Amino acid sequence: MSINLHWMEVLNEQALWTSDKDSINWLASLLGREPVNSPQVIEDFQTGLNKIRRQVTSLHFHEPFDFTSLDAELRNIRLELVDPAMPPDGYGSFLPLLHARLHGNNDDSFLIALKETLIVQFAHFVAESLNNSESPGVARCEGLYREGNSTHLSPAQSLPTDIELKWRKEIAVLTDSGLESSPEILRCADYFPTRAKGRFCSDECRFRTFQLTKQLSDPGYLAAKQKRYRARQVRQKD
Ligand SMILES: [Zn+2]
Repeated sequence: MSINLHWMEVLNEQALWTSDKDSINWLASLLGREPVNSPQVIEDFQTGLNKIRRQVTSLHFHEPFDFTSLDAELRNIRLELVDPAMPPDGYGSFLPLLHARLHGNNDDSFLIALKETLIVQFAHFVAESLNNSESPGVARCEGLYREGNSTHLSPAQSLPTDIELKWRKEIAVLTDSGLESSPEILRCADYFPTRAKGRFCSDECRFRTFQLTKQLSDPGYLAAKQKRYRARQVRQKD
């Protein structure tokens, strides 16, 4: 069996991690056991994802794209294509069929190969997206949610505030309510390929955002809703 991990999916997972422990837990769920990785390799994996996240921002906002840096990362990656009729065992079974070759048979080599595989996938996406107007770009969910104790403006904690602000400026209710720079309300960090319809990652995210937007646009909204709810309860009792 091979796993169809995709760079967007891994970035969306990463946005949920608040410590190295979370990334290790994610790896454990992938491998089905506790991984044995050196802190340096885990940090390098996170750095690789962070770079992709920043490049996604450039791509989305049509800023000059740093091809040189992405190309430099590709220079030392050697690829391997696996025949699905002869699925690999061991580490290969946790990687897509087209993946970076492992340099050794241990968890560090696996994590390095996973990072390199995601870089190759992303480079392919960038090339398609910039070279063909029919190809999808990358969109970010327009969902909002309250985060009481957040000190970071972005759910993906590595993303600098100035970059996150660009994404938040896309959401009118955040700018209109003066909450653009407040970590009290966060923008959902999920990415997906651009599509004609659907601005949210899920129905749940859409519904929660609708409620929150109503509240932010009209402070009396929640009070009025509670009043309506109570009135209905009274009517049902009568
Ligand atoms: Zn969302």
